[in-house]
Amino acid sequence: MINELSIQEVLEGFSSGKFTCKELVKQTIDTYESDKNSEIPLNAFLEMYDDSLSLAEKADELYQKARSEGEESLKKLLQEKPLLGVPFAVKDNISVKGKKLTCSSNILKGYVAPYNATVTQRLLDAGAIPLGRCNMDEFAMGSSTEYSVYGATRNPIDREYVSGGSSGGSTAAVAANQAIFGLGTETGGSVRLPASYCGVYGLKPTYGVLSRWGVVAYGSSLDQVGLIAHTPKDIALPLSVLSGVDFYDDTSCDLPNSNELQNLKSLSDEEFKKLKIAVPRQFEQAKGLDKDVAKVFEDTKNWFISKGATIQVVDLPILDASIASYYIIALSEAASNLSRFDGIRYGNRQDPGQGYDEFYTKTRSEGFGPEVKRRIVIGNYVLSEQMSGKCYKTGMSVRARIQKEIAKLFESFDLILSPTCPTPAFKLGQKVDDPMEMYLSDLFTTFVNLSRVPSISVPAGYTNPSDNSTKLPIGIQFVGKMFSESLIMKIAQSWEESHPLCGYPIRDGKNAFSGNESGR
Ligand code: GLN
Repeated sequence: MINELSIQEVLEGFSSGKFTCKELVKQTIDTYESDKNSEIPLNAFLEMYDDSLSLAEKADELYQKARSEGEESLKKLLQEKPLLGVPFAVKDNISVKGKKLTCSSNILKGYVAPYNATVTQRLLDAGAIPLGRCNMDEFAMGSSTEYSVYGATRNPIDREYVSGGSSGGSTAAVAANQAIFGLGTETGGSVRLPASYCGVYGLKPTYGVLSRWGVVAYGSSLDQVGLIAHTPKDIALPLSVLSGVDFYDDTSCDLPNSNELQNLKSLSDEEFKKLKIAVPRQFEQAKGLDKDVAKVFEDTKNWFISKGATIQVVDLPILDASIASYYIIALSEAASNLSRFDGIRYGNRQDPGQGYDEFYTKTRSEGFGPEVKRRIVIGNYVLSEQMSGKCYKTGMSVRARIQKEIAKLFESFDLILSPTCPTPAFKLGQKVDDPMEMYLSDLFTTFVNLSRVPSISVPAGYTNPSDNSTKLPIGIQFVGKMFSESLIMKIAQSWEESHPLCGYPIRDGKNAFSGNESGR
């Protein structure tokens, strides 16, 4: 099926005329439609855009013209538009001009994005085709995509389980072959966590490498757009197109060696032999670490050792405080960022006609869901005059220490290795009423955002249930120092070459995780 091909393969198919962009886009839409009509739909896409087929036709015309002119023309076309005709999924907090954007919240129902986010614009310029808008936890607050006004997104491998969040929609869409790659966002793990739960690759780049212009803010000092795909190369190519300074985002910056991403190579044997890897004791011995996750982590360490890398356990007690520091900072920034949704500047206005206070209260009370309200209340409390010294400043000083200690660690090591999450995907409803339990899903991911470094979650293995239940995927993350995307992507490429197709949980329409064999 052409919707299960890699970017390289679809570009070759378009160039040779083996199949068209329109056929590919149609195939992704058909996959979505048949799922939508199934007994338990995934609920990954909230809406398919109505112009994707006409964009595909335009791309086909360009290919046809170039083909008739010859090889050189085709080469030039793909140099100018390296993603021509490749369909992608968009999270519902990233602006696509003229399309609805709701952050899966009542308060933004009816809002239409007046301009393109820089990431959207750069993909459009490269010829990629936005397919539609994907479900998420409301305002990206959550780890399961259950906190959405449109209901949960389910895990394509077993629909009783969550997809992970908050970018669960784009991730499930990619995992279920409804899109070739996906755009998500991260504040504290929201790309890596669903990637781990759904068995695909998910990258959180260095803070600033991807512009945040046109992306709805949650915790601005932590937020970063991320990419989800079946293979490292399918992340590397869009990343090379997307990265770099943006006039509209003062925190944006260039990615050194981004040319290495266009034709991603694996790490050489010599490079592997020099690779020094740190494993934080605090993660390895974390309470609540699932035994299957621990086993997959052991196997991954052994793979690195077999490649000649050295692994050392390091002690970083400050990591025990990362989740507390993250939630203090993220919620404080969220309380401030979300104040703009007041029904005047933004928001679905609810006006009982009794003056400003009632208007504001009703708009926000009815517009926000319970988790978002909880976070606004906590964030404002933390920032209040009585509390800020004790809480906010402590959270910030813990962050500064984490940043410092991680930077110091990277003076002697090239990589930090850890499971992406303490557990595999959990069942729908299992944690939704227990925010503390839900927050603990982020135990291993938040230090990455706090210290602004890049990390990729790779599909590393699966659970080993003693009964007949479905095996669930398990992700391991490769964390590098700031701007080391090309290194961690090369390592991921080596991983892919040793574990071909590990990022395809559904292949030939079949679930690779069901039955006694993993199917890989
Ligand atoms: N689960 C974390 C939170 O709820 C991270 C969310 C995210 O990365 N957007 O804050």
